[in-house]
Amino acid sequence: MRVGLRIDVDTFRGTRIGVPALCRVLQKHKVQATFFFSVGPDNMGRHLWRLIRPRFLWKMLRTNAAGLYGWDILLCGAFWPGPRIGERLRDVIRATAADHEAGLHAWDHQFWQAHIDDMTAEDIHAAVRRGYDALAGIIGRTPDAHASPSWKCNDLVLAATAGFPFRYGSDCRGRSVFGPILNGQPSSRLQVPVTLPTYDELVGPGGIPLAGYNDHMLGLIEKQKTAVLCIHAEVEGISRLQMFSDFLSKAAAKGLELVPLGRLLEDRADSPSCRIAPQEIPGREGWVAVQQDHDKRPGSKES
Ligand SMILES: [Zn+2]
Repeated sequence: MRVGLRIDVDTFRGTRIGVPALCRVLQKHKVQATFFFSVGPDNMGRHLWRLIRPRFLWKMLRTNAAGLYGWDILLCGAFWPGPRIGERLRDVIRATAADHEAGLHAWDHQFWQAHIDDMTAEDIHAAVRRGYDALAGIIGRTPDAHASPSWKCNDLVLAATAGFPFRYGSDCRGRSVFGPILNGQPSSRLQVPVTLPTYDELVGPGGIPLAGYNDHMLGLIEKQKTAVLCIHAEVEGISRLQMFSDFLSKAAAKGLELVPLGRLLEDRADSPSCRIAPQEIPGREGWVAVQQDHDKRPGSKES
């Protein structure tokens, strides 16, 4: 069975430390993945301001965010403009794109995450344009795909990204490869949704114990027809690197083949058409875009 492997890179620190470390681990295990890069300013530390919100404080404590991400991530861009990741770390991004699929995650991850509900079609198009041009310039080719920060995707995002030559989108959570319905019409730009929970959604008091994490994930994967895993350069690439390496060993022993998301598009011409809608999911603050039940139109088939 194939399992899509997606690596989100949200921050300067994740790009500088997490990405090269993950590349070495992937090379050792002979695995290719899809990296989604953030290429503009790293303002992720602005999340610190959200500490005043009790639910976010609870999550920070529950997941030991400072230990997990490092204080430099939490402070980055909080009080001054953050460093432009693509300018400072272009060699890391270019070297990674030579061996793996490379997609656009964000120009400014924090801005998109915080303001998507107020962004106009023009704002969204401008953000994607800026990120696309920067990433294409760094890697010297067309980025493979688009992945909305924090799965915050709506119809304006689908419409904006349709104007760029991405091969597919990975903008939502879901259960199978599908064509998103936009303005009543199924889009030919397929979505490869993340089907599994992320580390920060699962761990912490009352959650999955760290020692059983990999087995828990492998158990979830075995129950899915289509499985797409999303890890973070900031987590599995730094403090949980050994755990992720162990995961790859265990996955290989079970006969699972981890692949870039684009490989899941093969033989998917008959994918179902589905709407996306905002929903809350366990362990995550705010809404994410989720694949809805597929339309019962002739010829559409659940995969
Ligand atoms: Zn992200």
